[in-house]
Amino acid sequence: MQTCKSCRKEIENGATKCSYCQAHQNWYKNPQIYSVVFMLPLFIFMYWNMGLFNNKDFSDFESEFTLTEEKVIDTNGSKAKLITYKVKNNTEYKWNRISYEVVSSHNGELLASMVDSNYAWVIQPNSESLLTVEVAFVPKANKWQLIIKDLKSDRF
Ligand SMILES: [Zn+2]
Repeated sequence: MQTCKSCRKEIENGATKCSYCQAHQNWYKNPQIYSVVFMLPLFIFMYWNMGLFNNKDFSDFESEFTLTEEKVIDTNGSKAKLITYKVKNNTEYKWNRISYEVVSSHNGELLASMVDSNYAWVIQPNSESLLTVEVAFVPKANKWQLIIKDLKSDRF
């Protein structure tokens, strides 16, 4: 006698299926194994399609982005500034989840920098998109430079 791998009741020696709970005693006789095997290529294709195997490194494409300051607006009783940049994406890829740094300076002298991110922001291939950043008021600052630290890309 042997015991069922599923319900632990005693079953006949060499039985491939338990007579109590119908559990298969050999994994390769279990039809469920085959559905998993058949599903596997589908899951791999889906992951590939989602771009999880194709993430691009932004540092390789940095030079293909151009940034232009569009406007600077005082807000919150002049305690902050809203700066809008036009970002041009000269790559064949769509990018999103931007991480950036804004450097505040006065006549070339660096005064402050802040790091932030905007995961809702998206830019399509070979197109432009506006990015508005909020920068805390820095006395004397008259120039703000946007530096893209990172962007994520999907396959399309
Ligand atoms: Zn059983």
